[in-house]
Amino acid sequence: MSSRQYNFCAGPAALPTAVLKRAQEEMLDWQGRGLSVMEISHRHAAYLDMTQDVEAKLRRLMGIPRHYKVLFMQGGATAQFALLPLNLLGAKAGADYLDSGIWSTKAIAAMAPYGKASVVASSQVSGYRRVPSQAELLLNSEAAYVHYCPNETIGGLAFDYVPDTGGVPLVADMSSTILSEPIDVTQFGVIYAGAQKNIGPAGLTLVIIREDLLGNAHQLTPKPFNYALQAANDSMLNTPPTFGWYLVGLVFDWLLEQGGLQAMALQNSAKAEILYRAIDQSKLYSNNIVAANRSKMNVTFSLQNEALDAEFLQQAQANGLLNLKGHRSVGGMRASIYNAVSEAAVHALVAFMIDFETRHWA
Ligand SMILES: *Cc1c(COP(=O)(O)O)cnc(C)c1O
Repeated sequence: MSSRQYNFCAGPAALPTAVLKRAQEEMLDWQGRGLSVMEISHRHAAYLDMTQDVEAKLRRLMGIPRHYKVLFMQGGATAQFALLPLNLLGAKAGADYLDSGIWSTKAIAAMAPYGKASVVASSQVSGYRRVPSQAELLLNSEAAYVHYCPNETIGGLAFDYVPDTGGVPLVADMSSTILSEPIDVTQFGVIYAGAQKNIGPAGLTLVIIREDLLGNAHQLTPKPFNYALQAANDSMLNTPPTFGWYLVGLVFDWLLEQGGLQAMALQNSAKAEILYRAIDQSKLYSNNIVAANRSKMNVTFSLQNEALDAEFLQQAQANGLLNLKGHRSVGGMRASIYNAVSEAAVHALVAFMIDFETRHWA
């Protein structure tokens, strides 16, 4: 088999090679114990030490204050779409939702059985080319929370500001943008993210929640999905995804070695700029999202002539550039350039795009 290729998959996405190598080295003999981390009880003192260490590293990376709990859950972001109203509505009748694309739409639909999801602003009117502005948000002061998706993974549309909700807890689906840049956690009531985009392997879901929002769960909430119960049990109410938890710890080590989220933000901005500049300078490729709302994580583009799509993808793959096909619902191309995707990968992609255009269009 060939060596590692440049992988632009939206998720499950590329992981740092150094992390995979370390996992490989430790696979058969974790901490000199003569077994793998997958073969040990989640109640074992060594495993518990590890989980605390992983959480401490995440708190350091993101600057998560003490009055926020970090939950390591399962079920992906999709489960959270329903768990948010189940855990947060309490006596409230509904919550406000911003619509910026496919993932926020799915979150809105999943809310329906539990309460009223008021869509208070939408990118639909702009053809999902820009996010609603702060002035356009007609928020209900009675809402249990305001939900939005800061980075729409499929459309490649990103918020360039954190909505001001006037004191109503802000809930953010950060599945595809978490850890890509420093954020101020205190601006949010809940941050959640499936791991398989920018954190680690699929199977683990992070929930970061302000303590005062705990304790409002509906009585029918299954225990493993009850935020307060999981918080009280250090996310060990039942068996957690033990390998995923271990592996994200290795990713956090790697991020700290890289210089933390400040350093990642610089790299991520540079990578996105290189790619968007190439798109804008070409005649074959285009992206029509307003500049301020272009995602730095998921760069979407389409070819002038769709008939060239298949050839573009096939030749890209032959050149070691994998998984550039856009989401099946929107078509076109998408290059996901998360933390683990190097600037070298982006340069290789741009070189290929220019070469392809020269041969097929110019
Ligand atoms: C991938 C993704 C989801 C869905 O994640 P699952 O883990 O498959 O449930 C939800 N929201 C966003 C923003 C995503 O990128």
